[in-house]
Amino acid sequence: MAAVAQNIKCSHCGAPVDFKPGEIVATCKYCGFTTVIQTGVAFTFEHSVLPNRFDLMQIEAPIKAWMQSGFLKPGDLAKKSKIKQKNLVYLPFWVVSVEAKTAYKGIFERITPVVVKEGKLEKEYNWLVLARKASDFPTREYQIPLEGKVPYDFRKIESFAKVLNSEVDRDSALELARTQIETHHRFLLQQDVDKIIDFRMELSLKQMVYLHTPVWFINYEYKGQTFQLLIDGATGNTIKGDIPSPKFGLL
Ligand SMILES: [Zn+2]
Repeated sequence: MAAVAQNIKCSHCGAPVDFKPGEIVATCKYCGFTTVIQTGVAFTFEHSVLPNRFDLMQIEAPIKAWMQSGFLKPGDLAKKSKIKQKNLVYLPFWVVSVEAKTAYKGIFERITPVVVKEGKLEKEYNWLVLARKASDFPTREYQIPLEGKVPYDFRKIESFAKVLNSEVDRDSALELARTQIETHHRFLLQQDVDKIIDFRMELSLKQMVYLHTPVWFINYEYKGQTFQLLIDGATGNTIKGDIPSPKFGLL
């Protein structure tokens, strides 16, 4: 059975605000007011949006450009493909701006005798955490132009677009960012040491912003099969695209 959408009243304009089970932060379609569902109180963090630059016709240009570029694609991809669906979705993210300092000790085994190395890794991040639980969205591959963000304005959201609510609260997002940054630092340290024996990471949080970003979910058909393409609505860049094998359809 499909999950039933519920609604609460927007505490700003009184309109019903729809949400689905699992969603934690919801934005009113009519006035743009953002509410924390469980408590019904206003959301006090900065809520931003990256403006989308394409309408339903204009988005075809970056789609065609992607199909025509790159030698891994079939030569007739742009010509033979049919665009089946063009859905603009505003995805919710938490942007966690932090300074991460890791002090580490490890064993360098690439020389004999092995040596123990100590060091520090200091980085600053605007770490993106997708505020949806079930998604295979490639967040780490998504390079968003953060400097283009503006305060969320419901009037700028296209009538055909869908705005997804957050399923991840602020504290959980911060925890997720911490875990992901730690994994990332352990990965970076592999260049310097082969075995980590001590690892301490300190995060100083600078800012957390709730951000909706425009992503075009494109379905196209090529030789009878459907493939997906994700395009960043702020830049027109491809986030991820399924490519039919060049020999596809010949077998
Ligand atoms: Zn409202």
